Amino acid sequence: MRKPRLMTPGPAPVPEDVLLELARPLIHHRSQEAKGVIEEVTRGLQEVFQTRNDVFILASSGTGAMEAVVVNAIPRGAKALVLNAGHFAARWGLMCSTFGSEPIMLDTKWGQPVDPARVRAALERHPDVACVLGTLSETSTGTGHPVAEIGRIVAETPALFAVDGISGVGAMECRTDDWKIDLLCVGSQKALMLPPGLAFVAVSPKAWAQIDSFESPSFYFNLKAARKAMLGSDTPYTPAHTLILALRKSLQRIKEEGLENVWERHRRMSQACQAGIRALGLELFSASPAEGMTVFRVPEGFADSAIRSRLQELFGLTTVGGQGKLKGQIIRIGHMGYTDELDVVAGLAALEMVMDGLGFEVEPGCAVTAAQRVLLTRKKA
Ligand SMILES: *Cc1c(COP(=O)(O)O)cnc(C)c1O
Repeated sequence: MRKPRLMTPGPAPVPEDVLLELARPLIHHRSQEAKGVIEEVTRGLQEVFQTRNDVFILASSGTGAMEAVVVNAIPRGAKALVLNAGHFAARWGLMCSTFGSEPIMLDTKWGQPVDPARVRAALERHPDVACVLGTLSETSTGTGHPVAEIGRIVAETPALFAVDGISGVGAMECRTDDWKIDLLCVGSQKALMLPPGLAFVAVSPKAWAQIDSFESPSFYFNLKAARKAMLGSDTPYTPAHTLILALRKSLQRIKEEGLENVWERHRRMSQACQAGIRALGLELFSASPAEGMTVFRVPEGFADSAIRSRLQELFGLTTVGGQGKLKGQIIRIGHMGYTDELDVVAGLAALEMVMDGLGFEVEPGCAVTAAQRVLLTRKKA
């Protein structure tokens, strides 16, 4: 068997010391020790999210945090403005319909960033919007959206600003408080270097005012119940405590490296990977690439499945293809969390060899050289 190289935009690799936490004997989740861990990781999450707001830990995948936002913060019948620029943004709209709010879909072409001026105009047309639902890093297209600018615009209105930061937080700069994000959703299995199974929601005072104004038809994901339990450093139902111990370790790693350095490492990996892809003669998909992944178009005459299965067979390297309408058209390479510049260089080397083997004209070393040039200049800067 090849050495596994998981380069997908979730799940992403988990460091060895974090994995070892998962092997510890269980402690009781209502013990003082367990409560101490919850307090510690909550502080750590606030630091990584750059917020003083309440942060809750849910036992679910990332989508559970999105559901918590929609069901707790958007009253039935209220309007929600969905910044619809990809598969995951569209999920916001589906959730609103499921729970009886009225989604207004502000469509952006897949691969393009959301234009803040259009958000402003939409909010002027619909001054009664209860919540704007956006995405920090749209994983289906590999696009980073201008969340800071959009946050400033939404903050001038009564609407809340909810952001799906599931593949963004930990890989890209995200300043929840400075950027006026009222509800931030994050999942464990992307840049936070954990297995799937935990989701996090940060809730601002402005969001609490709206949440407290109506009875939410939720039970498991009820944020008022979560707030009440949190007064005792607890969760309303059994927390996924083993994962929370692993979270403590991954947060320690982020703290040790320094959050700003973590963001800078992802910027370097992203720019190096983009340069390599271009040097190979391939086309980047996104006009505004997110920093935890690189997405390129499958060149004319090649099958994405052939490229990806060869990467897997020859080099143990896992990538993913496109979702929904992008199926077969793109390949997505993840470089988030426990991933470094050399992983990107190795991934590009593998891609060169696979493309060459499939008959694409490749100058050996071209992508690797382009990536190294980026890494050398960024180091000096
Ligand atoms: C992965 C992802 C999700 C879904 O998270 P699950 O953990 O699969 O529920 C939602 N939004 C974005 C942007 C993601 O990357």
